[in-house]
Amino acid sequence: MYNKITLLGNAQDAGRPQVGCNRKCCKEAFKNSLLVRNPVSLGLHGDKFGIVETTKSLTNQLQMVENPELSEIWLTHAHLGHIEGLGQFGREALNSKKIKLRCSQSVREYILKHPIWKKLFDRKNLIFSDFGTNSVIPIEVPHRSKDFDTHALLFKGKNNILFLPDHDSWSETLDFVGHNNPLDWFNHVEANIVLLDGTFWDKMELADRNQENVPHPTVKETLQLIGERRQKDPRIIFIHLNHTNPLHDKDSKEFLKVEERGWEVGEEGMEFSL
Ligand SMILES: [Zn+2]
Ligand SMILES: [Zn+2]
Repeated sequence: MYNKITLLGNAQDAGRPQVGCNRKCCKEAFKNSLLVRNPVSLGLHGDKFGIVETTKSLTNQLQMVENPELSEIWLTHAHLGHIEGLGQFGREALNSKKIKLRCSQSVREYILKHPIWKKLFDRKNLIFSDFGTNSVIPIEVPHRSKDFDTHALLFKGKNNILFLPDHDSWSETLDFVGHNNPLDWFNHVEANIVLLDGTFWDKMELADRNQENVPHPTVKETLQLIGERRQKDPRIIFIHLNHTNPLHDKDSKEFLKVEERGWEVGEEGMEFSL
C-alpha cells in the first residue's frame, strides 16, 4: 500500500531546541531556525497518505510533504511527544473526518482515558482501526510500560524498514525478542533499513538527571554491539536524538565515529522507497 517513507523529524519527543534549555545545544537553535529539529515522525506515501506518530510539530511536518490528505495515523506508544499532535485533529484545527488511528489496545485505552482526546473519537475526527496490516507489522519492545505497551513497526516492501524510536535497553529488548545481538534480530526480521533509537550519545548528557534510570540504550552502547558495518548488514540510521546529542552536529567527532563505522544519522527529509 505504501511505496515511500519520508523521515519528518529526527529529534526526541521534545524536539530541538527543548523548552527551557539554556545550554549551548539549544541556545544556537533558538537563534538559527536551520538548527531546529522536529520530533520523530514518518510520512507514509502511497495510494493514501499516512503518518507515524503525531508530534507537536505536526503542522510543519505535514507541510514538509505538501499537506497531503491524511488517511491514517500509526502510533508506536503513547508518550506525550509521540501523541501530542492528536489535538490538531479536533474542531479547533483540522476537524478531520474519520481518520484511522492504528495503535495497540493498551494505547487505545490510555488515550480514551483523557477527556481531551476522547472527544476526538466521540466526534469521529478519529476512529480506531486495526494495529497491523499485511505490510506494516508491529513488534512489541520493552519501554517503561506501566500504562501502555510500546511497539516497533516493520514496513514490508521492496525494502523492509524497521522503525524503533524508543526502547529501554538492549539487554531487555534482546531478551524479549530472543536474540543475542541487534544485528541477529534485524536479520531475523529481514530488515535492511533500521531507523533506530539514538536518543543519547552517552549518559554524560544527563548529568543533572539520574543516570541509572536512562530509559534508552546509548548510541555508544549500540555501536559496541553492532561494531563495523559489514556488507550484508542493514543500514542502521540513528534517530530520536535528544537536544543534547552531539550527533545533531555533523562536524562532531561523535558523528564521525558513526560514519566511520559505516552507520548513519537520520536527517529530516530523508526518503526511503518501500
Ligand atoms: Zn520518544
Ligand atoms: Zn538543549
